Amino acid sequence: MNNGVVIVGAGHAGVQAAASLREDGYDGPVILVGDENELPYHKPPLSKTFIKDAEAKPQPLRGEAFYTGSAIDYRPGVRIDRIDAERRSLEISGGGALAFDHLILATGSRPRLLPLPGADLSGVLSLRSLADARLIRELSAQSDEVVILGGGFIGLEIAATLRAAGRMVTVVEAVDRLLGRAVAPVVASHVRQRLEATGVRILTDTSIARLEGENGHVTAAITSSGERLPARMIIVGIGAVPNVELAQAAGLSIANGIRVDHQMRTSVPEILAIGDAASYRHWFTGGDVRLESVQNATDQARLAARTITGHADAYSAVPWFWSDIGDMKLQMVGLTAGGDSHVVLGDLPDNKFSIYHYAGDRLLGIESVNRPGDHMLGRKMLGAGFSPTPQTIAAGPEGLKAALAAFLEKEPSRAVG
Ligand code: FAD
Ligand code: NAP
Repeated sequence: MNNGVVIVGAGHAGVQAAASLREDGYDGPVILVGDENELPYHKPPLSKTFIKDAEAKPQPLRGEAFYTGSAIDYRPGVRIDRIDAERRSLEISGGGALAFDHLILATGSRPRLLPLPGADLSGVLSLRSLADARLIRELSAQSDEVVILGGGFIGLEIAATLRAAGRMVTVVEAVDRLLGRAVAPVVASHVRQRLEATGVRILTDTSIARLEGENGHVTAAITSSGERLPARMIIVGIGAVPNVELAQAAGLSIANGIRVDHQMRTSVPEILAIGDAASYRHWFTGGDVRLESVQNATDQARLAARTITGHADAYSAVPWFWSDIGDMKLQMVGLTAGGDSHVVLGDLPDNKFSIYHYAGDRLLGIESVNRPGDHMLGRKMLGAGFSPTPQTIAAGPEGLKAALAAFLEKEPSRAVG
């Protein structure tokens, strides 16, 4: 019997995997199971627009007709509790089983919890799902003062969004800078300056000792130096933890995520893992990574479908990321850890610049603020394996385009989209 492919998790990765299986001609059953009771939706708008606009609607990843039209059996509100890898079967929460020939784990990640006294008060929230975003939007309407714990992408996007909606916002970050896992210090301090200019208060090198409440609802965060930050809503954005428990209990190999090879196969070849939950050796750096981004989720989903349909492609996408924080469109391409020098194009005071990061003479990645052309060209350069010299970069975009064209003339097979 053909049990087809079961995909667990109907987020960015899971939905793309279902779509790609059909695009690649897979004609067996495709069952997409997700524990949220929603039509699968885009997550990025939740922190950027949805929470400040009472009228905003979720943006579906695909229209309802897509699932029926592509013979994808989408089952919302269904949670998988256990994998029997040997019998190729899944146990459904509340009863029932699902057999599979191939299983794709696209279980994503969840917000890291705050281990603090008062963290269980109502009004202490995190943002991962549409349900979380609805709660934040509702409570924000009654909260003049909001405290955000964590100065990463999620914390800063929410800070800019709620400030634009008129709230008094304080961001508390434990270390001495913002966006420590995401961008270089020069970009992070630019973001800080611009956010502060809009009235967001930012406390770095500051920890929260406890949260206070009245009648079960939060009223303030108390810093370790004793300052009281009043708030009716506290949003915790201190990182994400991969959802690996299903895989772990089934005996799959785990290392900061569900371990996969270059074809997205776990240690059991019929089971694949993709997206925020998967960790792998990255072709670009040679190091082990687990990336949390829409690009990573969708590209890995495409590759998982290719693996199941019998192709032997290896993962070779150039990683890229974006974030909208107030009037800053941040775009990042490549992985810049290990960089030892950089070149700047553009002007920080104009709020339009790009930073090109090098390790020795190798271009590792580019971080752009409001310079989408640099980002797109950077994707082409890194995708082709072209590493311009700092002097070529200093010549500006036209010089760079010409240098890339000359490189591709010699190596046409390396051109990418
Ligand atoms: P998810 O999208 O999290 O999907 C996983 C799904 O699996 C969830 O619905 C989960 O409930 C379900 N699930 C888990 N376990 C089970 C189970 N046992 N049974 C059934 N279902 C299960 N990335 C960017 O690149 N740019 C952005 O601007 C950006 N903005 C973001 C804004 C917000 C507010 C958030 C939360 C994330 C943002 N991200 C952004 C990150 C991006 O959304 C994630 O990297 C992406 O969603 C990962 O896709 P995924 O499919 O791996 O996981
Ligand atoms: P993140 O990027 O890991 O940032 C978390 C931040 O919180 C880090 O700066 C971290 O500092 C800090 N922190 C950790 N513990 C703290 C504490 N106790 N008190 C104060 N600060 C603390 O993760 P995130 O911003 O929470 O994002 C969560 C998820 O959403 C991720 O998957 C992310 O990719 C996704 N997301 C992505 C985007 C985007 O790509 N544009 C936008 C929104 C959300 P240390 O590094 O020092 O620990």
